[in-house]
Amino acid sequence: MLTRQDIIEEAKRLKFADIGFTTAEPFESQRDYLLKSQETYGWAETVGLGLVAGTDPKNILAGAKSIIVVLESYFEESFPPQLERHFGRCYLDDDRVTKDGMALKIKALRNFLRDNGIDSKVPFNLPHRLSAARAGLGTFGKNCLFYARRAAGESSFVFPIALVVDCEFPADEPTVSIGCPDWCRNACVAACPTRALKGDCKIDPRRCISFLTYYGEGLTPMELREPMGLCVYGCDRCQNVCPRNINWIQRERSQNQRVLKKAAGLELTRLLHMDKPYFLQKVWPHMFYMSADDLWRWKMNAARAMGNSRHPDYVGELIRAFTENSDERVRCMIAWALGRIGNQEAISGLKRFDAMTDGIVRDEIKQALASAGAKR
Ligand code: SF4
Ligand code: SF4
Repeated sequence: MLTRQDIIEEAKRLKFADIGFTTAEPFESQRDYLLKSQETYGWAETVGLGLVAGTDPKNILAGAKSIIVVLESYFEESFPPQLERHFGRCYLDDDRVTKDGMALKIKALRNFLRDNGIDSKVPFNLPHRLSAARAGLGTFGKNCLFYARRAAGESSFVFPIALVVDCEFPADEPTVSIGCPDWCRNACVAACPTRALKGDCKIDPRRCISFLTYYGEGLTPMELREPMGLCVYGCDRCQNVCPRNINWIQRERSQNQRVLKKAAGLELTRLLHMDKPYFLQKVWPHMFYMSADDLWRWKMNAARAMGNSRHPDYVGELIRAFTENSDERVRCMIAWALGRIGNQEAISGLKRFDAMTDGIVRDEIKQALASAGAKR
């Protein structure tokens, strides 16, 4: 029969950053919180995430006895700065579709358990971060993220992966608490551009840029366009400003070659002009929260990021994309971006489009012309 130590040794051999054990007791407090906060989290049930069901491990594996949590440290190698500007780091080497990185390690660990008579499930809807804290692997930050206790320089750049198993193991001492130093004056809360962080370890996910970039409905409201800055898919701002992360961020590291190879294919101009075949081949296997039917949102995000860059090199691309796209949400954001850059070429383009459009696109063009005029 496998012991805890056998599993710890195997996790080390597979190069997981850390491992802990907890019971298969339901996560009652999380369940209560989710049920009380349906206004904030109801969308998650609507898109089929099943977060409430995931609070009871027995809904995942009927004979659940323990939860084994392993940590993957995903920021061991550096990412190209041009990608960090637009994408959350955790998505840059995400193999949940390609299954050629972390997935192989998880599979190997599950095979090891199976070969020793232990059934396991790796649910997507179990509260992974809370499982990790209950397994003694770390604490929370006021930005609602999980911080490792021993791995990855005690930073938040870790993925907890929970395996529900049908065998009982002694549990680790839980570390479910806030681990922020008293002297930090809530840097994350102050830095959050869209005021998603509430300051009491609560977040309104509907205001979080990460959520807005891949699930935001319709045209991004005017008041969020500037705060969302250069983000196209995800946001790392509350992690970048956190003093608990500084040592790990500043560490010397070698370049992640897998991610480097993707960089050219993820340039803003490519995203702005991409068609479905390009998206399905180059983008979706790595960033899959939006389907090919949501290309409009990718393009809208790329146009917004271009506008916020204020870079005149993007004007020609935005003008071309306006003529290529019939989607009003994309056209409106392109108009806004041209107004935000606001040079002579952008104004000429807007004036041309003003004469050939109507409805909300025309309204947006008029606002863009007014804002460009005000800047000059
Ligand atoms: S990820 Fe960005 S938008 Fe979301 S809470 Fe952190 S700083 Fe705010
Ligand atoms: S920025 Fe400060 S308050 Fe926010 S998570 Fe980091 S240490 Fe905690």
